[in-house]
Amino acid sequence: MDQQIMRGRVILKDSIIDDGVIEIEGQFITRVCAATEYEGDLPAPSDSTFLPGLVDVHCHGGGGESFPNATTGEAAMVAVMEHRRHGTTSLVASCVTADADTLKARARTLASLAKQGELAGIHFEGPFVSHARCGAQDPTYIVDPDPDLTRELIELCEGYALSMTLAPEKPRAYGEGSVAEALIDGGALPSWGHTDSTSVYAREALEYSRARFAQSNTSRGPRATITHLFNGMRPLHHRDTGPIAEFLSDAARGGAVAELICDNVHVDPLLVRDVYELVGRDHVVFITDAMAAAGMPDGAYTLGPQDVVVRDGIARLAQGESIAGGTAHLLDCVRVASTLGGIPLVDAVYMASVQGATILGDDRIGCLEAGKFADVVEVDSALNVRRVLRRGTVVE
Ligand SMILES: [Zn+2]
Repeated sequence: MDQQIMRGRVILKDSIIDDGVIEIEGQFITRVCAATEYEGDLPAPSDSTFLPGLVDVHCHGGGGESFPNATTGEAAMVAVMEHRRHGTTSLVASCVTADADTLKARARTLASLAKQGELAGIHFEGPFVSHARCGAQDPTYIVDPDPDLTRELIELCEGYALSMTLAPEKPRAYGEGSVAEALIDGGALPSWGHTDSTSVYAREALEYSRARFAQSNTSRGPRATITHLFNGMRPLHHRDTGPIAEFLSDAARGGAVAELICDNVHVDPLLVRDVYELVGRDHVVFITDAMAAAGMPDGAYTLGPQDVVVRDGIARLAQGESIAGGTAHLLDCVRVASTLGGIPLVDAVYMASVQGATILGDDRIGCLEAGKFADVVEVDSALNVRRVLRRGTVVE
């Protein structure tokens, strides 16, 4: 079998080897150790840093194409490859709020790519979300929670439905006969968000999620996620608290995992650091929420049914001021976290790799260890990509 040896700074789950070696055979990593411990022939020392392939569990597109608009697998693959070339070797495709027929069609297209190993899962953002906090979700297609439609979508995803964003304050969001019940029983996760909830509904939804997961034997999570904490939800005010403090409190107690878009646009990187310090790296996952313009110039794009204009790399709805997804790659979020946010690199990488793998329930990905898939990102000291390996093969 083809053997590859890489040498440089290696980022592990809990530490960094300054001069390390990664040995790969075929699709898998066979050894990771310090260069001084390696018995075989060593390549020359390098100034490269090696990260695990990153895992993004909330992404709508890139390279000019988007999953909510992809009517073919080829179009969706343009977005997949845009992120893969920039270090995201495991990607969850996110849909946006749309009519039921569109969601079903996307589920079929995306499930077929997931079955081929190109996508790690499918996320539905809406349609059971708050009108008041819809952000870039088109209010025309927002409907009340429908457990039957949820079950149908899960079925169409053929085991690859990862999560659905829904608002706790909507009727039948949680409890008996709810969408959350349909998700957890169907092997998927509720992702609470796009919400105008009071603290009461948020807490009940989180408690329900915990209790239902405790009775299930899903390989996912098994924890709820919070869809891009702070974005698309009622802000925190000390006399009108909304859901945010409940989400943070639950995350700190090991309940939910909070998504954060650490792109220096959606959330101040210093607040990202505060959340990381408050709840810890095991309760945060970095996501891009990227749309078609990731890796592309400013201009006009679409996100599902909505027109979007990108200026200075910031995507906003053409009508109104709402931010309409991100334009960063997940590696950019790691860079923002570790430079502007002052988060240790090892933890920034952890929240962009191990955490996504844990949410997916996939123990073959997420870190540089013997036995894992050879998903490796080689970068320079400023975290610019030099080379990406996926399953041991260089990504072109
Ligand atoms: Zn999104």
